[in-house]
Amino acid sequence: MKRIFPPKPVSAGIILSYRCTGECRHCMYACSPRWSDDWISENDLYRILSQLSDKILPTPFGRDRVGINYGLHFTGGEPFLNFDLLLRGVEMAKNLGIPSIFVETNSFWCIDDESTRRRLEVLRDAGLNGILVSVNPFLIEHIPFERIMRDVEISEQIFGENLIVYQELFYHLFKRMNLTDRLSFEEYLKMGGAKWLGFAELIPMGRACYRLRNLFHKYPAQVFLKERCKSSLLRDWHIHIDNYGNYMTGYCGGISLGDARNLNQLIEDGIDLDDRPILKALMKNLGELYDFAVKEFGYRERPDGYISKCDLCLDMRKYIVEQTDEFKELSPREFYKHLL
Ligand code: SF4
Ligand code: SF4
Repeated sequence: MKRIFPPKPVSAGIILSYRCTGECRHCMYACSPRWSDDWISENDLYRILSQLSDKILPTPFGRDRVGINYGLHFTGGEPFLNFDLLLRGVEMAKNLGIPSIFVETNSFWCIDDESTRRRLEVLRDAGLNGILVSVNPFLIEHIPFERIMRDVEISEQIFGENLIVYQELFYHLFKRMNLTDRLSFEEYLKMGGAKWLGFAELIPMGRACYRLRNLFHKYPAQVFLKERCKSSLLRDWHIHIDNYGNYMTGYCGGISLGDARNLNQLIEDGIDLDDRPILKALMKNLGELYDFAVKEFGYRERPDGYISKCDLCLDMRKYIVEQTDEFKELSPREFYKHLL
């Protein structure tokens, strides 16, 4: 296989920046306040949205409804850290006729009713169809629960059924616990929270591979070497494009298929795999990348094992990035700095 052709994306998230107010232990994109204060430029945003506008599909319930794996969402990092840019993005997407637009937030900004309502109304009036409010045991370590409740209650009034609380189970759990302010993960576990973690869609990739590895059983590398990633890497739904233009699929943070500012060209011309050896190896199986990492860079298997195929993949990529900047598919490089 010399060339691959990414399919047209049917749903997408735009990472306005990797900057976030906190640093969740499970964050797939390793977002953090420590990230460079880089935000997507309005020019790049427009360029990307205009190429997405004839591809993004609405939810099956209509173009004014929202769903996690449908339409277009603005995300981060935390998009409300740059409200003006978020608003411009919503206006652009609306004017371009993109359906099912929502924003994903951690609610840090919901400090009082009035300003929360005002911001949400401004976004709705600009064309935002809905909102996804995140709630989970990792977020609650750094966001006071009162702010999340305020966001949920006011968003429900403004967006109605286009409010997604992700995940509702934790929202109701924290309400039942009469939680106020924040809660450390250690405290959460002491309160018996471990039994609910099985219901969390905790994907063992990204920062979770480092900060939550104690929660998972570990296996030797051998177990994962035949795993293939072609379908994840050539996925057409819920792709992400970051503020540097990196086109990322399969929740695979730190792997760029190319420059989404030239999305149409990327889809039409495809990707020359000889130009991207890491991607080439991953298109075959993890064993290819393992052999490459061992032979070319002296990678050594972790003695404590791996929690998932993505843990192995990420550990090898991180090891390589720390030694060379020659692989443009390992981008953005800063992602690999903020995992720990
Ligand atoms: S999961 Fe969300 S809130 Fe947590 S660090 Fe990542 S972007 Fe920020
Ligand atoms: S193993 Fe690597 S390429 Fe495959 S899905 Fe996981 S992070 Fe993505």
